[in-house]
Amino acid sequence: MDCDKCGRESVMHAAYSGLHLCEEHFLASVDKRVRRRVREDGLVPDDATPEDPQTWVVGLSGGKDSVVLTDVLHRTFEKDPRIELVALTIHEGIEGYRDESVDACVELTDELGLRHELVTYEEEFDVRMDDVVESDPENMAACAYCGVFRRDLLSRYAEELGADKLLTGHNLDDEAETALMNFLEGDVAQIAKHFDASLGAFDERASDDDPTRETGDHFVPRAKPLRDVPEKEVALYAHLADLPAQITECPHASEAYRGEIQELLYQLEENHPGTRHSIMAGYEELAALAAEEFGAREEGSTDLGECERCGSSTTRDVCRKCSLLDSIHAA
Ligand code: SF4
Repeated sequence: MDCDKCGRESVMHAAYSGLHLCEEHFLASVDKRVRRRVREDGLVPDDATPEDPQTWVVGLSGGKDSVVLTDVLHRTFEKDPRIELVALTIHEGIEGYRDESVDACVELTDELGLRHELVTYEEEFDVRMDDVVESDPENMAACAYCGVFRRDLLSRYAEELGADKLLTGHNLDDEAETALMNFLEGDVAQIAKHFDASLGAFDERASDDDPTRETGDHFVPRAKPLRDVPEKEVALYAHLADLPAQITECPHASEAYRGEIQELLYQLEENHPGTRHSIMAGYEELAALAAEEFGAREEGSTDLGECERCGSSTTRDVCRKCSLLDSIHAA
């Protein structure tokens, strides 16, 4: 088929929009969607100036999503002195997986000339995920430990790096899956927690296996500028733009429920193109309403204190991360 914009050979067909696009117009359409999301979420405040620039920390894992996000943001703000990008990579200690994706992060940030910070579970917590999976003192899925540690490091380092925003590479499929999971779990309070009122946007979901979900544990606003772009298109973009993205899956990936939702969404999207977009449109409206309701209910509530070990915000004496580290080190 020919490109609907210029008549050249198309490289993709988006069933949800009916468009066929050639390589050039496809790449441009992804850039455009990310830039529109940055604009609509108001990520660049009016008072940002070259003298007082904004620092945006981008969570760069080396997978296609974060690599594409970093690349698009770099080209968008390369000549804009109001925005400084810093890439932050977290090494969990997973043999045969993370070393390779760190290589992709180094290659990309070297190529783009971006500042790159690497933090490891080993140096920060004296643990490696491979060992945690082996000992498994809490009898939980790997991601339940890993998600708690990652959120802690992202929040902490975003603050340490002086971030005004923390950006992550969640794509449309990730977001629609999370929305559907929250619906199916029937937890409206949880839906409300994922709406960041400061941005009018969505926050990173706590691990699905983490029963405590301490979502009030950060103060740097989050944003997901890739959330309008379907996963397949992100993968195609990384391929066509020849970006150094790692494609291997984590060997400890354990979100079985998310896998079922993925399959369900895939079928729905095949049969009813546009399903992911409509899920998100409704979810965002619902989350904003829920955030208003739950925000009002919780106003005046002072049950969020500081962890007596590390000082993180928590509703308990010792935060989830510190109690998990206790069990791991005692095992
Ligand atoms: Fe950690 Fe799970 Fe992600 Fe692997 S899939 S890096 S264990 S959160």
